[in-house]
Amino acid sequence: MTVYSGPVFEMAVNQFNVIANYLEIPMDERDRLLMPKRAITVSCPIHKDDGTVAVFEGYRVQHHLTLGPTKGGTRFAPTVDIGEIGALAIWMSWKCALVGLPYGGAKGGVNVDLGRLSKRELEALSRRYMQEMIPFVGPHTDVMAPDMGTNEQVMAWFMDTYSMYQGQTVTEIVTGKPVSSGGTLGRREATGRGVAYLSKRVMKEAGICMGDATAVVQGFGNVGSYAALELYNAGVKIIAVSDHTGALHCATGLDVPALMKHTSIHGSIAGFSVELAFDPAAILLLPCTVLIPAAMERVIDREVAERLQCRILAEGANGPTTPDADVVLDHRKDEIFVIPDILCNSGGVVVSYFEWVQDLQQLFWEESEVTRREYEILDRAFTQMVARASADHVAHRTAAMAIGVEKVRAAKNTRGLFP
Ligand code: NAD
Repeated sequence: MTVYSGPVFEMAVNQFNVIANYLEIPMDERDRLLMPKRAITVSCPIHKDDGTVAVFEGYRVQHHLTLGPTKGGTRFAPTVDIGEIGALAIWMSWKCALVGLPYGGAKGGVNVDLGRLSKRELEALSRRYMQEMIPFVGPHTDVMAPDMGTNEQVMAWFMDTYSMYQGQTVTEIVTGKPVSSGGTLGRREATGRGVAYLSKRVMKEAGICMGDATAVVQGFGNVGSYAALELYNAGVKIIAVSDHTGALHCATGLDVPALMKHTSIHGSIAGFSVELAFDPAAILLLPCTVLIPAAMERVIDREVAERLQCRILAEGANGPTTPDADVVLDHRKDEIFVIPDILCNSGGVVVSYFEWVQDLQQLFWEESEVTRREYEILDRAFTQMVARASADHVAHRTAAMAIGVEKVRAAKNTRGLFP
């Protein structure tokens, strides 16, 4: 019996089983590595603007505490459930280990439709969620960050709420905060920048000229928009983007800075252009050099994988590709270069780690320092992944996850089983 269920959790289990078989991990070690250490469910009541009370269900899953505190984002979305949060926490563990951070994985979330909340109600929900989590989190226990539906402002409310209960300012309890409240320069851009940096590295190694390259981005939020901007600045044409309101397509390339300005004012790409409107369902199938899914899990299934027309799949989102789709990608003759999520979007947690370190030391770095160190870590992990994949003739995802799983396993085995 387990509290975790649903297709996203099943996907995390299936992926782990592939890795465990490849690494020949004995059966009696597998559950200890895979199953989350703690799962917390809270109910968060808030006063609505109309005077009524609404109650929202919130979660936090801490996967393992073997290497240090747990670390992971907080998702506010109507699709959130404990299975999805559990899967995301597991993926965070493999990701942190792959890039060498002293963290286990965690994830949290609230099942809420943000379209139905006013700004005051969102603040009330953010504060109540953090207040309910106080017994279970801490700068050396579990450090939160943003994810889908949460942003710097929500992190500032989390930090303020925790600090009020401690009687002192504790900036290191969350990352992804505004720079004015103990955040680091370069965190807002970090995930998208990392996605673009790795995509550019693959293009360079494949001899693709940026000026001839095109990119398609699904999800024009934090990750998608900064990935698009970095590629646009490098001369790549961003020929299509989408968000929850629709899609835009322009064969000669979209004006990404203008689109970012529009979304910062209006909250979505809706209303940017009637002429460029496109079918959001078709966006993943467009011919392009780089395809960046940067929204939801499981958008690339077996059928979509068979019809992809990109040369590089740069996974900005967590879990965008199903295990069935991986099998198709492994066997396609026109090899698509996959940069798997746990590496591709890891720039976010890398710079979150830098933010935590800076907050603990109260010593802050220049943005150029933050970004230089981020790219150094991404480069190292990328090189290790490619070398492992080629040595063992396995897919990039298998190689990347195996490196992460091996590090967690080694730490568990050397520490032993208590008592
Ligand atoms: P966000 O809330 O800033 O943006 C999400 C975007 O996806 C929005 O533009 C939204 O409109 C769009 N979207 C939602 N449903 C969609 C749909 N059905 N079709 C197309 N677009 C849709 O979130 P984010 O922080 O950019 O996170 C996006 C993904 O990246 C998530 O999978 C998240 O877990 C992952 N991620 C985020 C970070 C980070 O630092 N923010 C780090 C690592 C991974």
